[in-house]
Amino acid sequence: MSDSYDLWIRNGTVIPMTRNGDWLTGDVLVRDGRIATITRGSATGVRAREVLEADGNLVLPGLIQCHVHVVQSLLRHHADNLELLDWLRTRTWPYEAALAGDDVEAAAQLGFAELLAGGTTTVLDFGTTHDHDRVFAAAEAMGIRCLSGKTHMDAGDGVPQGLLEDTDRSLADAEELGRKWHGAAGGRLGYAVAPRFALSCSRELMEGCAELARRHGWLLQSHASENRTEVAEVDRRMGMGNIQYLHSVGLTGPDVILAHGVHLDGADRRLLAATGTGICHCPGANLKLASGVADVPAMLRSGITVGLGADGPPCNNRLSIFHEMALAGTLHNLRHGPKAMDPWKVLAMATRDAARLLHLETITGTLQPGLAADMVVVDATAWPLLPEADPAVRIVYGASAGHVLHTVVEGRILVRDARLTVADSAEIVRRIGEAGEAVRRRMKELIP
Ligand SMILES: [Zn+2]
Repeated sequence: MSDSYDLWIRNGTVIPMTRNGDWLTGDVLVRDGRIATITRGSATGVRAREVLEADGNLVLPGLIQCHVHVVQSLLRHHADNLELLDWLRTRTWPYEAALAGDDVEAAAQLGFAELLAGGTTTVLDFGTTHDHDRVFAAAEAMGIRCLSGKTHMDAGDGVPQGLLEDTDRSLADAEELGRKWHGAAGGRLGYAVAPRFALSCSRELMEGCAELARRHGWLLQSHASENRTEVAEVDRRMGMGNIQYLHSVGLTGPDVILAHGVHLDGADRRLLAATGTGICHCPGANLKLASGVADVPAMLRSGITVGLGADGPPCNNRLSIFHEMALAGTLHNLRHGPKAMDPWKVLAMATRDAARLLHLETITGTLQPGLAADMVVVDATAWPLLPEADPAVRIVYGASAGHVLHTVVEGRILVRDARLTVADSAEIVRRIGEAGEAVRRRMKELIP
C-alpha cells in the first residue's frame, strides 16, 4: 500500500523554498498530514483519496505571517487616518475593551478566514487582554497553524479601565492559557507570550512575561520602535533606548519576535543580531500609520532574521501576505536603489525564514518529505502572473491574495477553488455583521 496517499497535488510548478532559485515541475504526495514525496515529473502508479490538479499553477509552502491581530478584525475600516498612539488610544483600546467573548470569536473567524483564503497557513498572533480562549477555539476549528497569546497591559496613558490589568493576574491568565493551548490540536496551536509594548507594561510585568515564557519554553512577542513618539517616550521614561530597555527586561533572544523595528540605529541592530532576536517587518501597517520605513536591508546585513506580517486589520487594512511581500520587495528601493531586495529573499521571509523565527522549521516553511503538508496553490494564469518567468518574481511583484486557489494545512484542504471548506462563510459574514455593529456601539462610550 506504499503507493496509496491521502492527497495528490498533480503537475504543479513546485517551489520548495529549500534553496533560493530552485523550482521544478512535478507532484506533491501527502500521507498522514505530511509530505511523503515530491516527484520531478508526473508520479506514476499511485492512488490518492483526493487529487488537486495543479495544472502548471504555482505550489508553494504555506505562507507565514509573524505578526497579526485577528482579534482586531471587527474594527477594520473604522480606524483610519491616525498615527499609532492616537490610533491605539481613540480606537483600538476602546474597541478591545468593548469586546465580549462572542465578539472575540467572530473577529478571529473573520481574520482566519481571510488569512486562509489568502494563502497564509501559519500565524504568530497577538490577542487582547481577555477572552483569548475564543481565538484559540476559532483557530482549532478552522485548521490554521497558530501561535498566539493574550496581550499584557498594566500601565500606560489612556488605557481604558477594562483593559488595565493587575500584574500578577495578567501573568497567571497567560500561564493558564498556555497550559491549556500550547501543543493543542495535535501541535498545530502554540502559546506565545505577548506583552503589548514598553509603554503599556510595567517593568515587573515585562520581566514576568520573559520569565514565564522561558520557564515553559514558549516564544515571546512584542512591539518595538514602531513610531517616533513611542521611541522618545520610552527614552524619557526608562532613561534608555527602547531596544536597550527590552534587552534589560529579558525581551531579546532567539525566542523573541519583535514587530516593526522602524526606528532602529546601528547599536540597536547589533544588539538584536547578537542576541538572535527576530524582527517582523510590517510595511503595510507602517505606511498606513505613517510610522516610517524599517531599514530591512540594514537589518539583513546585520544578520537579523526578518519575517513579514500584516499587523492588525484596522491598520493595514488587509491581512494579505502578498501585499506585504509586494511592499517589502519594492519599498526599500527608495533608500537602497532598485536591487535593495532580491525577490527570493522576500519569498523566504514569508516561508523559510519565518518558520525559523517561529522555531517551526522542522514542521513548515519549506516543501520537503517529512514536513507537514502546509501548501498553497497560486493561479499561474492570473493576468498579473503572466507571462511565465522566475516564480519568485511573479509572486512578489505580481501576485495577490485573490490569486490563491487552494490552501492546505497538514494535508487538509481548507480552501478549495478559492472557497473556504472548513467553515460556513455565510454564517461568518452574518456573525461579523451583528457583532461588529454592537462592539463599535459600545466602544464609542469608551473613547476618551
Ligand atoms: Zn501589532
